Amino acid sequence: MRAGKKDATQLEEFLAEHYGGEAMLAKNGRSALALALKAYFNKGDKVIVNGFTCYAVYEAVREAGLVPVFADIDKTDLNFSIKTLEKVIDENTVGIIVQNTLGNPVDMQAIERFAGKYGLIIIEDLAHSAGVKYADGREAGTVGATAVLSFGKDKAIDATSGGAVVLRHHHMNKVAKPGRAPRKSDYLRERFYPLFGAWCRRLTRVHLGGVLMRALIKIHFVERSADNKLDLTRRPANFEAKLALEQLKKLPKSGAKPLREFYLVKNRGEALEKLKKAGYYFDGFWYEKPISPARYYEKTKFDEKTCPVATEVAKKIVNLPNYYSKNELARAREIIEEYKEGNA
Ligand SMILES: *Cc1c(COP(=O)(O)O)cnc(C)c1O
Repeated sequence: MRAGKKDATQLEEFLAEHYGGEAMLAKNGRSALALALKAYFNKGDKVIVNGFTCYAVYEAVREAGLVPVFADIDKTDLNFSIKTLEKVIDENTVGIIVQNTLGNPVDMQAIERFAGKYGLIIIEDLAHSAGVKYADGREAGTVGATAVLSFGKDKAIDATSGGAVVLRHHHMNKVAKPGRAPRKSDYLRERFYPLFGAWCRRLTRVHLGGVLMRALIKIHFVERSADNKLDLTRRPANFEAKLALEQLKKLPKSGAKPLREFYLVKNRGEALEKLKKAGYYFDGFWYEKPISPARYYEKTKFDEKTCPVATEVAKKIVNLPNYYSKNELARAREIIEEYKEGNA
């Protein structure tokens, strides 16, 4: 596969057309999100963030100089609701980041009414939900002021790394387009990951996949997606743009399926042990803390009292990525069934 600058341009054109606005490619999703937040908000502004999320989102909010306000989630879809939003809103809050957790769409009509009532700008973060449709048939990313995409590992569009933002309402002038080429080391690492990733996934039922992946992470040959550095100046590699475009074009018109199926279980430690024995390697499932991964959690100073449901869910959730086949997951589902507390 040869990829060139043309691929990046084609991806930008596709995104601009599809989401309606001007597209900029970025090093990763968190950098794209930070660019979007900088374009629309000012330092010190408060933005509402889903109380069950990825450290990448927190990092982007802080990078933009904003104050995150965490709204608690509903157990059925892992998204904030009008009830929890009403609890945290105040006059200094100017925006809301919609995340469609694990590809479960929010009630967008309700969110729009809420945003209208308080004059909030809606940022749609599509890391989990590229191609997903809201209940009224509109596609995620076509509703808010801006759509932000991640092309990171295990995201809805997985090109190893990369991201993009589509800005509407002529906000382009507040931020500079990332123009620097990727670092050579990042380029190499990302170029080879698709090979090893597919390999490790295939080996997943025989333990080896997990062991191999862990070894590759240890020698920094494979970077955990959570460690992908925020950088507002770098563009993604051309091969990443090419991969992302191919996948975007393949998204089903009828709406994409959720990214991961989730279950809430009792005795999760025991359940995970049993899954491991059966050969399932689920490292860093989404999410083991209200803001994950656990190794960055302390930094966020997250106040668990403000989001009791997210805090509880983080202790009970198990979720399965949708890239495995039904057969591959059959035994895992049986095990989870034994421990299940209920699911959406
Ligand atoms: C992973 C993720 C991002 C950002 O992704 P990166 O490409 O890893 O920076 C943004 N939002 C959510 C909800 C995510 O899970």
